Amino acid sequence: MNLILFGPPAAGKGTQAKRLIETRGMVQLSTGDMLRAAVASGSALGKRVEGIMAAGELVTDDIVIRLIEDRLPGLDGTGGAIFDGFPRTVAQAVALDAMLARRDHNIDLVIRLKVDDAALKARIAGRFAESGRPDDNPDAFVIRLAAYNRDTAPLLPYYQARKKLVEVDGMAAVGAVAAGIDAAMATSLGVT
Ligand code: AMP
Repeated sequence: MNLILFGPPAAGKGTQAKRLIETRGMVQLSTGDMLRAAVASGSALGKRVEGIMAAGELVTDDIVIRLIEDRLPGLDGTGGAIFDGFPRTVAQAVALDAMLARRDHNIDLVIRLKVDDAALKARIAGRFAESGRPDDNPDAFVIRLAAYNRDTAPLLPYYQARKKLVEVDGMAAVGAVAAGIDAAMATSLGVT
């Protein structure tokens, strides 16, 4: 099963992805992690995206589409992909559908973790201190949230129209969020 974990920064996508990797042998494809690795390595790509990421803006579609395309062969023989932080624009979603179709795959399910902005700001305040991420600070966070609402929220109708979208209350306790995700996956697989 290939799924997209969808939600604003700090919605809990990373926590849930980790659990799905451990319990189902899925592979997480996080463009944010790939880009941070590029920055850490000091590569040409890393230098190109470092400032954009630190400011909380989106990098260009072609960069992240290429990163994902390069990783797709690694999915063969796994429990499927968890796309985390990708796609973030409709152009990325269209490109993802096309590259999966070329490999006889598709997106089975899109899980939207629903959270409210005020609670999110409170949640992120704790993370600022610990994460060490240059974009985990109040100014960049406001920009990241704005980018999400402007560029990424329009993906919801895209996946709703394709009957892939399931909403899970991201404000619930971690275990309840996990149960909501498991139920959505079971329904998608037709095992309920
Ligand atoms: P994340 O770890 O998913 O919050 O991503 C951190 C940062 O990486 C974002 O704020 C963007 O600057 C960049 N980024 C990650 N994924 C994408 C994407 N799919 N499209 C554009 N920019 C991205």
